[in-house]
Amino acid sequence: MSEQPEALLINPPIYDFALYDLYLKPYGLLMLGSMLKAAGWKVRVLNALDYRDDETIKQFGQVKRLADGTGKFHRQIQPQPPDLKGIRRHFARYGIIEESFASAAAESRPDAVFITSGMTYWYRGVVESVEMCRRLFSSVPVIAGGVYSSLMPDHCAVSCGPDFIASGSLTVKDSSGTGLSSEGRRLDSFLNGLGLPGVRVPAEDSPIDEDCWDDAAVLRLNSGCPMSCSYCASKKLCNGFHAGSPDSAFNFMRSVNERRGTVNFAFYDDALLYSSDDVFLPFLRMVVDYSRKTGKRFNFFTPNAMHIRYMTPETAVLMRQAGFREIRLGFESSSADFHDEYDSKYSEHGFFQTVKMLTDAGFSRNEIVVYILAGLPGQTAAEVEDTIRFAGSGEFTLSVSEFSPVPGSPMWSRCVDECRFPIAEEPLFHNNSFFPMEWSGFTYADMQRLKMLSKEIPKGRRA
Ligand code: SF4
Repeated sequence: MSEQPEALLINPPIYDFALYDLYLKPYGLLMLGSMLKAAGWKVRVLNALDYRDDETIKQFGQVKRLADGTGKFHRQIQPQPPDLKGIRRHFARYGIIEESFASAAAESRPDAVFITSGMTYWYRGVVESVEMCRRLFSSVPVIAGGVYSSLMPDHCAVSCGPDFIASGSLTVKDSSGTGLSSEGRRLDSFLNGLGLPGVRVPAEDSPIDEDCWDDAAVLRLNSGCPMSCSYCASKKLCNGFHAGSPDSAFNFMRSVNERRGTVNFAFYDDALLYSSDDVFLPFLRMVVDYSRKTGKRFNFFTPNAMHIRYMTPETAVLMRQAGFREIRLGFESSSADFHDEYDSKYSEHGFFQTVKMLTDAGFSRNEIVVYILAGLPGQTAAEVEDTIRFAGSGEFTLSVSEFSPVPGSPMWSRCVDECRFPIAEEPLFHNNSFFPMEWSGFTYADMQRLKMLSKEIPKGRRA
């Protein structure tokens, strides 16, 4: 081992039927980078989703990117996995080419490799990354973490074969501040047992600086969510809501802007508006004040939907002043039965009140994106159509979110019982691209028709 041990942090390529970069950044991995640095590691990051890799561009050309930091990734069509034969869509590997991936990994021999994971049905990128590390550095310990590893640790152990799986958050917040969670302590002992430094809670609660922040950086004020929607595994991943520090988020934002000129910032919060008097509002006031003093303007985005019920007029005004470019609301359904059964997110009254607060603050209706959830077990196409017509009448931008069964969510066992695929054994079947929970009351053709309708209705092309 060199004097200062080196950690190689890998953001794997993604295998999917479609992929768009809506602020898809390895935030958790780069937070781990901070924890490793605080414990004495030298950290090297390998981002397989980097769309600026020279060799990949030589082969496939530039991909289309937008000024707001979103855009496409490079794509290579792959043979259809045998289990998914019959799906009429191209299966592809997204990210830098394998040659670039391996040569960047081999630049130096690390003392440990840390691989993150996202959606459960993206696990093939983790398999590829572990296999590459075994080929290049056979005896170096490989640690897997992230969403898939946390929700399906047994599957990860068998299919990916890392030496250690971190299943859950590594830190926990309590009244005395932030400390290592039991999972963080377990990882710490594993590394120490190999004669390596472990992980430490860093002084600043922010991710390490990397060039993936150039086009857009990620902020997370709080972790987790106070609610327990049946279709979501937030509780399992974060164990409830934990308020963060507005100062840390603001300092990170300012330093990334000063170092890299970054102006686009996306929030990864599950519950940005919850407890906003303590965290979000102070953060917004700092941004507004800083913009006034420096003349700098920022663009903020919320790829995760916000809670309709926690919006206030003051929050809406401050968001507008700070530079929020669009507002995404988790509406899900206009059916009261839906909300009684699956979540307690919404009342019709609350929806219109929130919209009024936003439009009064200066947001136009087409800057408001309304998420509609479609394809839950037993949900009918007619219910989703009613919701689209209801929300579409308000001229908002509608976004139909196709449901994907999530292990660890309260409705997971119902999904396992009712799905026509063996989702408990094979995560590829969780992919919402081919509608795993299709049934006679809501078919794949219905889904395609409703997605089309959601685009047409707000433009007034159909009544
Ligand atoms: S779906 Fe949203 S509101 Fe519901 S538990 Fe998950 S993060 Fe919270």
